[in-house]
Amino acid sequence: MHHTQTNLIDIQNKIKEKITNLSYNNYNPKIIAVSKTFSEKDILPLLNYGHGEFGENKVQEALQKWGTLKENYKNVKLHMLGKLQTNKVKHAVEIFDYIHSLDNLKLAKKLAKEIREKNKKIKLFIQINLGDEKQKSGIEPSQLESFYQNCSALNLDIVGTMCIPPVDQDTKLYFKSLYQLNQKFNFQEISMGMTNDYLDAVEYKSTFLRVGTGIFGKRSN
Ligand SMILES: *Cc1c(COP(=O)(O)O)cnc(C)c1O
Repeated sequence: MHHTQTNLIDIQNKIKEKITNLSYNNYNPKIIAVSKTFSEKDILPLLNYGHGEFGENKVQEALQKWGTLKENYKNVKLHMLGKLQTNKVKHAVEIFDYIHSLDNLKLAKKLAKEIREKNKKIKLFIQINLGDEKQKSGIEPSQLESFYQNCSALNLDIVGTMCIPPVDQDTKLYFKSLYQLNQKFNFQEISMGMTNDYLDAVEYKSTFLRVGTGIFGKRSN
């Protein structure tokens, strides 16, 4: 077996064990294999294994890598995880099924326009800035209600919230906050948890775990 396949199976088993220990019922989180910087050669074994959720950070890279792959593997859902500039929205809408980084109204308006014109069905996560970090993207929790209303008025399909907690801190506290925020808004999906903390994210019922290094290995750039 290819190392990406054994890594994925190992992660799936750890998640199953964690869910059993927590006695959660009807909870089945999805694993997004974050393939940014990795080539088709590393992605193909997972595709052939039947994995269907993949994540990328850059529109250009996604278009180059996934244009043909998505035609050959029709069940694949591609997730945009990185910061999305409005001038890239047109192409993003062509290749991605989910966008996790919706964080401002200008972007929301541009997405609404392109999704309508291209007649696409794209599911969106609102990125939340839980750490009150000035340099980080995301909507402040106190602004979520009005931002969500604006997005709904634009007919955007908001499925949940997403966060990237500050590094070197107890991420569990952030996962708990996002879980509570999600409950308040009755969103179906939560996007949180990466290689180092996906089991903590499981504890707070994340529905999309974004795992890169743990599946593909260390990134060289
Ligand atoms: C790169 C990236 C990941 C995956 O990170 P790993 O630590 O390699 O698992 C998850 N989410 C986002 C937003 C990323 O940019």
